Amino acid sequence: MTSFTSQPEILTDYVDKDIFYKMIENKLSSLGITEQDYPLNSIKLAQKFYSNLQIEFLDFKSINIGGILFKHPNISSMALNKSRSKKGRNFDCMHELIHFWFHPETEYLCTYLSNNDIQRKKLEWHANEGAAHALMPKNLFIRKYKEFKGEISKLSDFFFVGERAIAYRILNLGLDDKFIFLEDVNRYILKKFSLRLCPSCQNHISNINSLYCGICGQYLDTIIIKGDEPMNYYGYELDTNLKLKTCPRCLNTNIDESRDSCHICGFYLYNDCSNEFCGVTKLPGDTRHCPQCGSSTTFVQANILKNWEDSLTWELNKLKYEQNLSMPNGQIKELPNWNDFLEFLALSGLVYTYKILENSTAKICGYTLVIYTPKNIFKEHIQLNDTLNIITENYNSIYNEEFYEIEVVCTDDFYPIHEEPTTSSYDDIPF
Ligand SMILES: [Zn+2]
Ligand SMILES: [Zn+2]
Ligand SMILES: [Zn+2]
Ligand SMILES: [Zn+2]
Repeated sequence: MTSFTSQPEILTDYVDKDIFYKMIENKLSSLGITEQDYPLNSIKLAQKFYSNLQIEFLDFKSINIGGILFKHPNISSMALNKSRSKKGRNFDCMHELIHFWFHPETEYLCTYLSNNDIQRKKLEWHANEGAAHALMPKNLFIRKYKEFKGEISKLSDFFFVGERAIAYRILNLGLDDKFIFLEDVNRYILKKFSLRLCPSCQNHISNINSLYCGICGQYLDTIIIKGDEPMNYYGYELDTNLKLKTCPRCLNTNIDESRDSCHICGFYLYNDCSNEFCGVTKLPGDTRHCPQCGSSTTFVQANILKNWEDSLTWELNKLKYEQNLSMPNGQIKELPNWNDFLEFLALSGLVYTYKILENSTAKICGYTLVIYTPKNIFKEHIQLNDTLNIITENYNSIYNEEFYEIEVVCTDDFYPIHEEPTTSSYDDIPF
């Protein structure tokens, strides 16, 4: 039984391409054809399944004739052009098979010259589009296109159809527009595209010479140029020399211009490639992988930048947390005056309270004041009742913001928890 009963067997008009492709797929799968059978040999296929179809090879003298088909209830015959290549004949035979399967007329003379008969044009469109999909199924073709980096001769060998048919298929599926292979194409032409995104993490690739995505480390042999919105990933603010403004380890803000490392805790303040043979230094504050060699950067090695997936989860967890708190009135409010408030505490002589809040940020979500602190050490101090009372009284005295509760959160708490890998002892290392 075939699954074909819901579709009309005979086509006389244009059909939606997706529907037509589905019809072709159903036809092939009813014959037991799978991806393993590619490249598909259409002549063998016809000979195997249709004993009432005779195939002969004639010398038509003109290379513009693809094939001839006579359809008859008892015995049908097809003639293919001897003067065309084997690959060309593979396409021609599949073209005739489409007529054989789906079309009502009894005689077909198929040429590569343009046709003015409108009815004939429709049937020829079906036959070419159908043959293309049968011999080069869309999904398999896209996979192979990426695998072979768009090389037409390799695709032609894999699918066993002529290079012209391959080129037409690439244009027809719009692949030339979606993928550009950096090894084949002069990179400067990419400059005309305003938006180039990493295919795996959607990071905006601003430097056309990057070999690897700076966020996820994906090798950039293919780049999706158009499509989705770019993603932004968490990163650190750097000064004009690409050096950290605040030490992320000890939170020292008094950075010594003449030193590469924090003079309080010794933290290295630049984001460099960690591969000593590569030599790329001073990368942006959100870069996790070296754009030249793909190695992780010093920020990742020091664990102040997490991998892109954890960073994304972190952001989503934080947004979800804020949204849940905002339920009573739907409001999430940034507090741009938070730093002024902290200054006010310091000036009022509340030095301890100022100190533990110094690196915090705050938001009002619903009726809750959320205080974000970068370190757990501060969280314990802020959470004391006395401190919370001081914050509430002083904040309410200056700003007219309504909140009934305070929550203190360490920003690291939003990262996903991973199982600690079991640490191996030196005994396990074989010599
Ligand atoms: Zn035809
Ligand atoms: Zn990426
Ligand atoms: Zn430090
Ligand atoms: Zn590198």
